[in-house]
Amino acid sequence: DQPKLEVPDSPQEIQELGNAFNELLASQNQRLQREKDFVSNASHELKTPIAAIRGNINLIKRHGDKHPDVIPESLGFIDEESLRMQNLITNLLHLSRADRADLVLEDVNLSEIAEQLGKQYQKTLDHQLQLSIAPNLYILGNTDTLKQIIVALLDNANKYSPEKAPIILKLADINKKIELSVQDFGMGIPDDKKDLIFQRFYRVDTSHSTEIKGSGLGLSIVSQLVKINNASIKVLDNQPQGSIFTVSFDEVQSDN
Ligand code: ADP
Repeated sequence: DQPKLEVPDSPQEIQELGNAFNELLASQNQRLQREKDFVSNASHELKTPIAAIRGNINLIKRHGDKHPDVIPESLGFIDEESLRMQNLITNLLHLSRADRADLVLEDVNLSEIAEQLGKQYQKTLDHQLQLSIAPNLYILGNTDTLKQIIVALLDNANKYSPEKAPIILKLADINKKIELSVQDFGMGIPDDKKDLIFQRFYRVDTSHSTEIKGSGLGLSIVSQLVKINNASIKVLDNQPQGSIFTVSFDEVQSDN
């Protein structure tokens, strides 16, 4: 009982088949292009610190004997650039791991996770971190990746807002959704950049943010981790200034 091969016989059917085939090809080309862009961006980002490290090593080799005063400054650059490279590689690894969708999801108490991380961060940030966390909100998620999401959003709020400005970590049950948000009162994100910031390597090109160190990978990792946890993420303006990143989850009924 071989299945019968359906051969399109009307011109319209042939046209439709052709269109479907072209669409498939276009989406494959897009994927290939994205992968190519990714490799070339990653290579470029790694080349820059390596060039700086090699330049400073050469400087020490050539002038270190006669002018030992160049050594501490060059070592400082090497230290800084190698750290930048290390962070970049860590991020690239996170990104490739975040591609796998085989993580186990289980009922987790997001309130406990947020509270615990928030308290830990209150001790280390240069900002006042305010916690507003409703108790015992359960979601279906993966604890490690949830922690990674919260840490990345807190790190950004910390980086992109002035030292004295407070940061708010909030967890609430809103319209049958569990909403986790990180609010800052920093420089904010222009409307036309709000989608772009989730793309790999994208950084908003303002004088402020280029002075602040980063690779443009943090939020692309966050958006993959959000997807793994069956959640969604959006960014809105805060008032009077700054940003609010909100991750929304479906609620899971707790036993108690
Ligand atoms: P990185 O911080 O390493 O540049 P991210 O992917 O985390 O990379 O963020 C991408 C860009 O989005 C940042 O370079 C910055 O321009 C902007 N951005 C992210 N978070 C904030 C924030 N809380 N406030 C203002 N701008 C932000």
